[in-house]
Amino acid sequence: MSRRFAAFIATGVAMVIVAGALLVLATGHERQPKPTAASTQTSPPPNNAPASEPSGQPTQTPSTPPSTPGKPAADPTASLVKDKNKKVLFFSFDDGPDPYWTPKILQVLAKHNAHATFFQLGKMEAEHPGLREQVLASGNAIGSHSISHPQLTAISAAERHRQIFDGPKSTCFRPPYGASNPKVRADIKAAGMVEVLWDVDPRDWARPGVNAIVQNIMNNAHNHNIILMHDGGGDRGQTVHALDKALTLLAAKGYSFLAMDCKQP
Ligand SMILES: [Zn+2]
Repeated sequence: MSRRFAAFIATGVAMVIVAGALLVLATGHERQPKPTAASTQTSPPPNNAPASEPSGQPTQTPSTPPSTPGKPAADPTASLVKDKNKKVLFFSFDDGPDPYWTPKILQVLAKHNAHATFFQLGKMEAEHPGLREQVLASGNAIGSHSISHPQLTAISAAERHRQIFDGPKSTCFRPPYGASNPKVRADIKAAGMVEVLWDVDPRDWARPGVNAIVQNIMNNAHNHNIILMHDGGGDRGQTVHALDKALTLLAAKGYSFLAMDCKQP
């Protein structure tokens, strides 16, 4: 046996020993008591992360969670929840006004003595005159949702400015898809508005079924939350029926439903 061959064999034996030791370590680790099922189950992701909205755009998550850090300093719900124990929810409806669905939503709200905030598109307001006035006359509030629902973080500064400054008149602004950044927020502020996102997205825009929408609201809505729904952007039949059911269930739990403090300058 040459010395070189002997060294080769010795190296091979050493490698086998090391591999064996690693195997023992690995299996030993595996034999450690497993965590209980409960502790390995990750809790479902919070449902308040804004997902997407209609108009054919996929999921668009804002850079900040909407509930706490996303709320503007001048929170249009703050003045309405001074009594922290009072059970209040803020329903909101985006992408209208729609000549068919907006009046249906207004009917359901009136039936339950509820009010809400409508984040309207300037384009829809112009195409369907009178609906803005109808929403306001029934004690609801209007916020701006831009002119034509672009993703404000993906357009030129001039177009972003136009979409924010020349949209529906209000002191509240909700960026389409919840897509915001410091430039968007600066324009909103310069236009005399505050950014309003949401806490609960029951995904009515995806038409998951009336009961799925209702259950999502019932499972996720907490006191003083803003709930996102839609009165435009397509067939909102599920939204209308889900709203009726949810308001019945939530009223039985002691909630009342207020429009936000969005002024109409
Ligand atoms: Zn929208």
